[in-house]
Amino acid sequence: KDFRNDVKPNWCPGCGDFSVQAAIQKAAAGAGLEPENLAIITGIGCSGRLSGYVNSYGFHSIHGRALPLAQGVKMANQELTVIASGGDGDGFAIGMGHTVHALRRNIDITYIVMDNQIYGLTKGQTSPSSAPGFVTKTTPHGAIEQNVSPLQLALTSGATFIAQSFSSDIKELTAIIEAGIQHKGFSFINVFSPCVTYNKVNTYDWFKENITKLSTIDGYDPSNKALALSTVMAHDGLVTGIVYQDTVTKSYADQIDGYSPSLVKENIEIKEEDFNELMLQFK
Ligand code: SF4
Repeated sequence: KDFRNDVKPNWCPGCGDFSVQAAIQKAAAGAGLEPENLAIITGIGCSGRLSGYVNSYGFHSIHGRALPLAQGVKMANQELTVIASGGDGDGFAIGMGHTVHALRRNIDITYIVMDNQIYGLTKGQTSPSSAPGFVTKTTPHGAIEQNVSPLQLALTSGATFIAQSFSSDIKELTAIIEAGIQHKGFSFINVFSPCVTYNKVNTYDWFKENITKLSTIDGYDPSNKALALSTVMAHDGLVTGIVYQDTVTKSYADQIDGYSPSLVKENIEIKEEDFNELMLQFK
């Protein structure tokens, strides 16, 4: 299926987000979805524009709030495949509270963070995933704070699918996004997506030199959380592949299905007279 539309992205040439968009489109097709089965909900930031660039339902929401909206969309319509997406500032600063609770709630959506370790849209400030010592206009003497580790955060918050990839490895990224879509529960995918305009440290070459693929580590087992955590820490978070997957824990909707099926299965029908009566109350 064709998930392309005729909107031309206004990302800078070379931005990692182009590949993430392409990988989402390929993964959606690979998963057998139709455009009308897919909803993409994004936050604010350069990467937040993605919801307008894919032929699907799309909602460019507000800063740090993609996850509550995406979870609401999924709970209202279990038939939709829902992808939430945004940047590291969106998900790990203003939206961090939502991120932690979505990780442990296990609603069946896929959350893709385009992590470029900087605020790009506002022209290059230190973000929560910028490493200590990172120099920008907001940290002219180097960042003092410790950076957030997205994988450690997800592993210790109860997520059932955790992966990381690199935007220039589109084959691996597509396979991971497709696996995340197929996973029955919350899937968290952190993507190193270089900002070529403002981040001159974490470049494509830097990632190529520093990333280790989990598939090259002998005996790595993504069902072993303790092994996942120790491996992530040993590599300073710079690994790619499926880090952890729990295929046993049921999704949020499947767990409430036993005692409240109407909450997730029945269509809510709003009659015109009911709607008019509701609107009168706001006059
Ligand atoms: Fe991409 Fe950075 Fe340009 Fe934003 S500023 S579009 S993140 S390269």
